[in-house]
Amino acid sequence: MSFNGKVGIVTGAGSGLGEAAAKRLARDGAKIIVADRDITGADRVTKEITAGGGNASAFTADISVFQAAQELVEFAVRTYGRLHFAFNNAGITPALTDTHEVDPQDWLDVIGINLNGTFYCMKAELAYFAESGGGTILNMASTAGVMAHAGRPAYAASKHGIIGLTRSAAVEYAQRGIRINAIAPGPIDAPSARELPPEVRKAIADKTAMKRSGTTDEVAAVAAFLLSDQASFVTGSVYEVNGGQTQL
Ligand code: NAD
Repeated sequence: MSFNGKVGIVTGAGSGLGEAAAKRLARDGAKIIVADRDITGADRVTKEITAGGGNASAFTADISVFQAAQELVEFAVRTYGRLHFAFNNAGITPALTDTHEVDPQDWLDVIGINLNGTFYCMKAELAYFAESGGGTILNMASTAGVMAHAGRPAYAASKHGIIGLTRSAAVEYAQRGIRINAIAPGPIDAPSARELPPEVRKAIADKTAMKRSGTTDEVAAVAAFLLSDQASFVTGSVYEVNGGQTQL
């Protein structure tokens, strides 16, 4: 995938799936804004990209605040002169809790980051793309956005919401040179999952048809395709990357 001359934002790029995507896109030639609310992670990933010959800049942003999302887009344009794509990946996963026992504040936190944050980023990105002549957006959903996810009601609601937002905006902006898609990974062997006990990891992997978890690089590969010009006729799609989990 060639991203030579392209500038992109990846949110939540200081860890996990965002980190893998930022590194993959930078390897493919893109200049990347490594955005995260955790500056330590963002700085580390930025240094690793530049040490490998890539081009990246760190930016601290809590995307659950609209002004931060606006400043993120402004920073990208100020730093590199242009913005071509954005991967709105940042999100949090709450602990398993029965729906009637969810703390209302925890509900607001998950919706505030996952759904509101994705919307705030999209709003800022779309305002820029509508003026600049186009661009590409990829939103991070989850298998929890396309099927039931018992015990994580706020997470499931946020990811279903992201898919509705993606599809609706894709139609709205389809004739303005803006493509908007979502990616919906199943169980991925991200750093957070690696801390789980082996029997829990096996039970999670067994939920897929392939009987394994995916890697962060396998998700990054699909993200790179959707963000690239190779996917020029793809918009409003939800790409499942889950080893066949939703076919069982
Ligand atoms: P992670 O915790 O390793 O990385 C998430 C990053 O987002 C962290 O660096 C964190 O600091 C950042 N972040 C959190 N809230 C933020 C905010 N308000 N503003 C800016 N940055 C913020 O998690 P991950 O497993 O890499 O997950 C990344 C995304 O992928 C999430 O949206 C998650 O829902 C989704 N996802 C993950 C899996 C999986 O198996 N890991 C599966 C499906 C979907």
